[in-house]
Amino acid sequence: MKLTIDELSVFCKKKGFIYPSSEIYGGMSGFFDYGPLGVELKNSIKAEWWKAHVHDRDDVVGIDGSIITNPKVWVASGHVGSFTDAILECGKCGSKTRADHFIEDKLKMDTAGLPLEQINSIVKSHKLKCGKCGSAFKDAAGFNLMFQTNVGPAEGSTSYLRPETAQVIFADFRQVTDTTRIKLPFGIAQIGKAFRNEISPRDFLFRCREFEQMEMEYFVSPDQANSCPYVNEVLDYELLVLSAEMQQKKHAAKKMKIREALDKKVIKTQWHAYWLAFEHKWFSSLGISHDNMRIRQHFDEEKSHYALDTWDIEYNFPFGWKELQGMANRTDYDLSQHMKHSGKDLSYYDEEKKARVTPHVVVEPSQGVERAFLAFVNEAYNDDKERGNIVLKLHPKLAPYKAAVFPLVSNKPELTSKAKEVYLSIKPEFNIYWDASGSIGRRYARADETGVPACITVDFKTLEDDTVTVRSRDTTKQERVKISELKKALTDFLNKK
Ligand code: ATP
Repeated sequence: MKLTIDELSVFCKKKGFIYPSSEIYGGMSGFFDYGPLGVELKNSIKAEWWKAHVHDRDDVVGIDGSIITNPKVWVASGHVGSFTDAILECGKCGSKTRADHFIEDKLKMDTAGLPLEQINSIVKSHKLKCGKCGSAFKDAAGFNLMFQTNVGPAEGSTSYLRPETAQVIFADFRQVTDTTRIKLPFGIAQIGKAFRNEISPRDFLFRCREFEQMEMEYFVSPDQANSCPYVNEVLDYELLVLSAEMQQKKHAAKKMKIREALDKKVIKTQWHAYWLAFEHKWFSSLGISHDNMRIRQHFDEEKSHYALDTWDIEYNFPFGWKELQGMANRTDYDLSQHMKHSGKDLSYYDEEKKARVTPHVVVEPSQGVERAFLAFVNEAYNDDKERGNIVLKLHPKLAPYKAAVFPLVSNKPELTSKAKEVYLSIKPEFNIYWDASGSIGRRYARADETGVPACITVDFKTLEDDTVTVRSRDTTKQERVKISELKKALTDFLNKK
């Protein structure tokens, strides 16, 4: 049976992954704190992303920009003018709700990209009323999602908490290209906080007001969207595809190889196809099953005005298929806007063309750490009836603790001191913990519930032959390993997946 999002949030709180922020004061909707296990998992997700997108590649560099910037950045990007969601306000009690979600929930219809006039006509024709007091709504209005703040003591010094990390990459484009020897095609990546004053935060971590993004802008020369030198690496990669046309015809998502998607022009450009497969593979390599992931193309009305083509990687969340990661082709829109507004030249010398060009962002893989966190925990959660406890089958690379060390029983000093010795010998190299309280079965169950891949137990045989048992979380099988070979055995075990 599918886990509900409420069950998942209760589990995350109980085990120390996620807490409602400032809960002692009643909390605040849309804000969360990461507990001791949560921060480890979150840091591992970010480290794996950075490794795959920056360290393992020669064509991507990273930055870490500021959260508050000159507000002109957000005027140029269009966020000040149009980063809005439609809001419905009750004419009587004044309660406010996000219009598209309200309509979606009430009428079970798709509301992607609906303009204000259409929202108003739907509200009127279906006689939709305020969920709190049952009175009529005022006309829907646009609500800007950026948080404002004042910088310094001066009046009129309003700026914004960034609603995405992407624009900081564009604003730094010139510095990055001036200070590195990176050549087109190349990417600039960033991980960092983003803030959106969401009208109705909901679904636990899925829609928060403060979250973190892992984003990359991948730049190519203007006419090179179809010349990806790495495309062969992904042609045989298969994924579930749901194009705009398939959605219009009410067809279900279909398994397709990238080769077929390109041949049939379902995905329009090689670069877009390459990065869609790359990102899908990244999630899959860390434990998300192919059946729970699909790529879905945006309808024309749904796309941002600047985007040439947009696909989302969607995950089958407890509340249905929703965006895990956006993948838009943003063309040269952002660089051109920033050139226009700043008066600075952001063109780039293309060595092949022997000319200056305004590079195109052929794809912007943009994902929220919180949604990835949710997907990984949801995927890993197994209610094992036979064992009688939850088994959190997180990929070892993501597991907060890589192992735990136990003495078989805690009332035998010779076992405890030997186990402490083993614990201290491997602690410098692995994030592990010590547990000597309760029965060994209870300690195994506790470890299973927090995703610890291996439990190392020192028993009476250890005292005779210097071996310990290593128990696998996923199979419960135990292997005897010599203490002298434990580090290597543990490394191999963790890398086996
Ligand atoms: P949605 O349509 O779900 O509101 P979006 O299209 O506004 O998402 P983008 O602007 O494309 O989202 O942001 C890129 C990524 O940032 C998303 O794929 C998501 O993973 C993450 N993200 C966006 N808004 C939030 C939020 N409020 N809480 C958590 N993560 C978010």
